[in-house]
Amino acid sequence: MLTEAPPRKSDRSQFVESDRIRTLELPADPELPTIANSIESRMQAGIAADVRRVSAEFLAAACRFYQVRGCGFRVLAARPLRVREIWTSERFGDYDPETQLIRVWMRTAIRKEITSYGTFLSTLCHEFCHHLDFERFGFRDSWHTRGFYERAAALYHHARATAPKKLVWVAAGGGRYRIDWPRTNRPGQTWAGPEPSQRCQVKGKDFRRIALTPAGVEEGSHMGRPDYRGHLEGALRTAWNNRLEKNAQSKNKPPAPRGQALVKRAFDEN
Ligand SMILES: [Zn+2]
Repeated sequence: MLTEAPPRKSDRSQFVESDRIRTLELPADPELPTIANSIESRMQAGIAADVRRVSAEFLAAACRFYQVRGCGFRVLAARPLRVREIWTSERFGDYDPETQLIRVWMRTAIRKEITSYGTFLSTLCHEFCHHLDFERFGFRDSWHTRGFYERAAALYHHARATAPKKLVWVAAGGGRYRIDWPRTNRPGQTWAGPEPSQRCQVKGKDFRRIALTPAGVEEGSHMGRPDYRGHLEGALRTAWNNRLEKNAQSKNKPPAPRGQALVKRAFDEN
C-alpha cells in the first residue's frame, strides 16, 4: 500500500483532512460481521448469485449505519479493461462517484489471480470507504491517504471480527507513504491487509502491454455484462480451494519485497 502524493491545488486541505482521520466510527452491533460471515460461507458454497446478494446486503447495512445514501453494486468475472475511476491501484474493484456504483471483480487482468474471501471483503470495505469519503465526509475527491487506508482497515477488521493492528508508515518521498510490512507484521500482531502475494506487483508497463493484447481486449468486452454465473461459480470454487491451500502454507510467509509499485495513474481513464 502506497499513499498518493498530495494534490497541488485547492483540494489540498481536504487531502490533509483525509490523511488526518485515522479512525472510523464502527457499529456496536454484530450486523456487519454476521453478514460478512455469510459472504464467506456463500463463497465457500460457490453460489455466485448469493455472494452478490449478500455483499449488497453488507453494503446496504453499512450505508444505514453511516447514514449515507445507498450505493450500487456489481460483481464482474474479470477486471474490465476500462476502469472509470482514476485509482489504478485498485486490483479488485472500483467506485464511481458519479453513479455511486461499486464494482468488484474476481480476477485480475494480469495474472488471472482469483480473489480470496479476505481480499474480496477487503475490496468491499475499501470501495465502500471511497463512497464514505464523498457521502459522509463530503470530500470532493477520495484520495488514498494514510487515513483512508486506516479507515478501510478499521471497517475490514470490524467486519471480519479481527483485532486491528497499528499500521507502520514510512515516508516514500514526494509526500507519499508506504506501509512498512515487516514492522507492521511483527509476530504477535494480527492481520493488516491482503496477504503479500495479493498486493499489487504490477508495474505500469506491464499493464500497458497486457491492455494492448487480444486477451486484454477480450476482458474489456466483459465490462458491464452482469451474467457471469458460470464463470463466477467456477472462480469462487477455485478461490476457495486456493484459500484452503494458502491457509495450509501461510504460517511463515516471508515479507514481500519492498517497493512494490502501484500501477501508474496515467494509464487509467482509457
Ligand atoms: Zn481505492
